[in-house]
Amino acid sequence: MIKLKNDKQIDGIRASGQVLAKTLKALQERVEPGISTVDLDAYSRELIGKHGGRAAFLGYMGFPAAICTSVNEAVIHGIPNGRKLRSGDIVTIDCGIELEGYYADAAVTVPVGSVPPDVRQLLDVTHESLYLGIEQARAGNRVNDISRAIYRCVKSRGYGVVRPYCGHGVGLAIHEDPQIPNYVGSGKNPRLKPGMVVAIEPMVNLGGDDVVLLDDDWTVVSSDRSISAHYEHTVAILDSGPEILTPWE
Ligand code: MG
Ligand code: MG
Repeated sequence: MIKLKNDKQIDGIRASGQVLAKTLKALQERVEPGISTVDLDAYSRELIGKHGGRAAFLGYMGFPAAICTSVNEAVIHGIPNGRKLRSGDIVTIDCGIELEGYYADAAVTVPVGSVPPDVRQLLDVTHESLYLGIEQARAGNRVNDISRAIYRCVKSRGYGVVRPYCGHGVGLAIHEDPQIPNYVGSGKNPRLKPGMVVAIEPMVNLGGDDVVLLDDDWTVVSSDRSISAHYEHTVAILDSGPEILTPWE
């Protein structure tokens, strides 16, 4: 069931999104060769606590950290560890915040030092596809309008689109209906209405579409071990159009 949010609830999600945006901005600035993802996780807990929020992923389905950190071929749900990042790596930082009962979810892929041109282009195209999806998050459109905009952008460059994981409703919980796939499938295709709040999150591989779950039962990697990028915003669908609630840029 899709829960429409009233103005007061959207204000609450916006406040949560501001905490998340500040957290992701600070984390991005901290990324450099030599830092580990467990260092980033510790810093995220400090930042979230300072703003009075709660890390929504910590303990969610048993997840052991405050942020997901997915390096290189890892697509999503990577667990922070002590390996030091090296120049040429990329790291996706995915974070969920709960503030006074309201939830926001966002992710950014950050290059470490200098990355090869093909990886830089993967990041640029994935980021572009997120914005093309957000542009379609308008009352009167349908979920597939978002999905199609993302898919076309990504496939026009020949990249792989991750299918088993997708965007979702968010706001009163970290995951709500509807699902927002990054491809046009045959599933439910609800019409978008004012008051819907959705997390839009293209996950894009430099190689093929397929992904596989590692033995830690969390980390999802591309099956061909190609580099993978992921950007996400929480977006409110308003009468005036889409509003990004997690402005981490
Ligand atoms: Mg999400
Ligand atoms: Mg996320």
